[in-house]
Amino acid sequence: MTTLRFLGAAGTVTGSRHLLDAGTARVMVDCGLFQGTRALRDRNWAKLPIAARDVDSVILTHGHIDHCGYLPRFVADGFQGPVRATADTAALVSIVLPDSARLQEEEAAHANEQGYSKHAPALPLYDTEDAERALELLRVMPHGDRREVAPGITATLATAGHILGSSTVRVELGGTSVVFSGDLGRPSHPLLLPPAPVGEADWIVVESTYGDRHHDEVSDAAGLLDTIVRTVARGGTVVIPAFAVDRTEILLYHLDRMAELGELPDVPIYVDSPMALAALRVYRAAVRARSAEIRPDVAEDPTPFLEGRLREIRSVEESKALTATDQPKVIIAASGMATGGRVVHHLARFLEDPRSSVVLVGYQAAGTRGQLLLAGARELKMLGRYVRVRADVVNLPAFSVHADADEIIGWLRTSSRRPKGVFLVHGEPGPARVLADRIEDELDWTAVIPHMDEIVRL
Ligand SMILES: [Zn+2]
Repeated sequence: MTTLRFLGAAGTVTGSRHLLDAGTARVMVDCGLFQGTRALRDRNWAKLPIAARDVDSVILTHGHIDHCGYLPRFVADGFQGPVRATADTAALVSIVLPDSARLQEEEAAHANEQGYSKHAPALPLYDTEDAERALELLRVMPHGDRREVAPGITATLATAGHILGSSTVRVELGGTSVVFSGDLGRPSHPLLLPPAPVGEADWIVVESTYGDRHHDEVSDAAGLLDTIVRTVARGGTVVIPAFAVDRTEILLYHLDRMAELGELPDVPIYVDSPMALAALRVYRAAVRARSAEIRPDVAEDPTPFLEGRLREIRSVEESKALTATDQPKVIIAASGMATGGRVVHHLARFLEDPRSSVVLVGYQAAGTRGQLLLAGARELKMLGRYVRVRADVVNLPAFSVHADADEIIGWLRTSSRRPKGVFLVHGEPGPARVLADRIEDELDWTAVIPHMDEIVRL
């Protein structure tokens, strides 16, 4: 019997883990961390209903933490590999996992200092050594190569256009086939080519982050420029909480275009995140190598990311000095939902400054500071105290690297036949429901929102 089990990203946008079981062998597509509210994060500690050592292979769709961040724990629990991914995904995962391990270690150390953990001593979900062991299991699998990933199970990766190296995955097992969208990019991604067609699929597992949304604009570049010009004119600072991987590159690409056209005000532009800067190096290398995923017009430009003007902040001291300066500037810093990272220090300072602006450029999950800001919070708790929100809060969602509802439907339409069913994952219940109804109405396909730990027979 061939089954598919949803071990995460069911009714929520994080913790992607999908288990395919052919009876004789098992493959997991993505091995992500739950993020957001405390209740969600607690799920990372829950015992899986399967034994990690019984899984033969993991396939990663891309290097975002909610798709790969559980891997070190999975390895610590007995998974022995291999982990298949594209070369660029492997490069990004090699940046993201050690950073995640460091954060886990810091959180445990902090809990021990403050004595607020239920456990004594508090332990990290995983440590740097677990992350290193996970990285040793990575095996590169290029887009387009059909490979046996476990006995009797083959997989093929194709471009997903979401972040560099991102993939849709087609898995064939037990006489059936399943195509996973992973996270689906927007066809208008300024750097990456659009997602590859679905092709032949018996079953489709599709993300639904923006299942109820329509991005009006192809890009919010005009809105960003407008915000920078306005903020600089009143002597303020623009703070942009950005996901370290891909969003930073998209922002820099747009700023680069503005600078070339002479539109960008003459203020310093900073990226304050060692992880974002490491990811930027991977993007620069892909552009230089004219990677097949990169849009040809981008590959024509040897320096598309504001090189020469961009100021890169690495040390904590430099970061603190940057928070302290009063001169107009643009700061791009992680994390994207303002849940942690250096952006918190900048927000604690500049949210109280009515001359300044905070620009939200992506999905803000429930329970995050980003979402509270979006909802119009008048004050936010950060670093243990309440901060008044007096800065301009600007929402520019079209910078999202997730397809909107029409774009998801458009991708599903590239299926060469009617699948037996579509499973909607990676979405809050509301958006997933709206998208499921559209798939039923517009495509006349069976569309199901699986619940956590549900098993379906293929
Ligand atoms: Zn993603």
